[in-house]
Amino acid sequence: MTPLVPYVRRPDWSTDDTLVSALAAAMVDFEVVPFDALDASRYDEVSVAVVDGPSADQLAKLPHLELVQSSWAGAEAVMPVVPDGVHVIRLVDPQMAETMSEAVLAWTLYLHREMPRYARQQRAGEWRQHPIVHARDRRVGIAGLGILGTAAARRLLAQGFAVAGWSRSSKQIDGVSCYDGPAGLGAMLERSDIVVNLLPHTEATVGTFDADRFATMPAGSAIINFGRGPTIDDGALLDALDRGHLDHAVLDVFDVEPLPAEHRFWDHESVTVLPHISAPTTVETAAVIAGENIRRFLATGELPTEGLVDRSRGY
Ligand code: NAP
Repeated sequence: MTPLVPYVRRPDWSTDDTLVSALAAAMVDFEVVPFDALDASRYDEVSVAVVDGPSADQLAKLPHLELVQSSWAGAEAVMPVVPDGVHVIRLVDPQMAETMSEAVLAWTLYLHREMPRYARQQRAGEWRQHPIVHARDRRVGIAGLGILGTAAARRLLAQGFAVAGWSRSSKQIDGVSCYDGPAGLGAMLERSDIVVNLLPHTEATVGTFDADRFATMPAGSAIINFGRGPTIDDGALLDALDRGHLDHAVLDVFDVEPLPAEHRFWDHESVTVLPHISAPTTVETAAVIAGENIRRFLATGELPTEGLVDRSRGY
């Protein structure tokens, strides 16, 4: 019998048809069916599902569910809705690492070559040259040295930047000054002109960047948030920008998305707002990875070494 794999997305969100088509193409040995098209008489058949922002109600209807493969890299929206005992695999895709490291490089260069400052000068009709800073003298610090942070660190290193990184456990990455644990964050921030946040959203990371952390960053430094909104205290960030302690923030992720129209970030001269575009899922590669993980699990019970979410850590 062809195994049934539902594609589960909250009913109030429209189906991502491109992902469903990619799953159908990459998983021809499965019957891929959007959850809302699945007859209730077949819920019993389901042991694995591909999820794309599912609801708890939908997953609770699948009594034999053993594994969900998410199409997202972040796990914070999936973990609270998945029944206990069900394995959660988040998306770990080399294409996403490539896309994210390109975004980190692009927006690091934007800050490094002072594009916001020269744009401001142009608007004021001001012809003024500032001394160049070479990449080797520009200290970039990455919070979160996981799959995406490590790929970004390597890309920045190849571009000649002085790169550091911070993680929960200790790491060794050639050419990167690695810090870990609560004390390590302060040490990394103190030496970073540009901070790139690639932390997941967990209980432990909420509000990581607060007033004290911003005060630790050097005067005139900048932050890029490509991780998740709640890891930054918005009020503390606005205060640090308003006082001129921080020079600029590039923000791609927010507490509430889309960013509400009345939010101060929209009009702030020192903020670049991006609509969560730094590393979208590439449906073709994600579908192949989902298929491989599900196929292996059904054949052998084996779980992937990368991407299995640890419930106690939340990522
Ligand atoms: P990952 O491989 O799980 O890496 C997470 C990193 O954060 C690890 O280095 C981990 O440390 C570190 N970390 C977690 N909790 C920590 C803590 N309390 N203190 C210090 N370090 C901590 O995740 P990833 O694949 O790189 O993805 C990172 C995040 O990027 C995702 O969770 C998602 O939120 C975000 N993302 C955003 C976009 C976008 O378009 N904006 C796209 C994709 C992903 P250890 O290495 O010690 O475990």
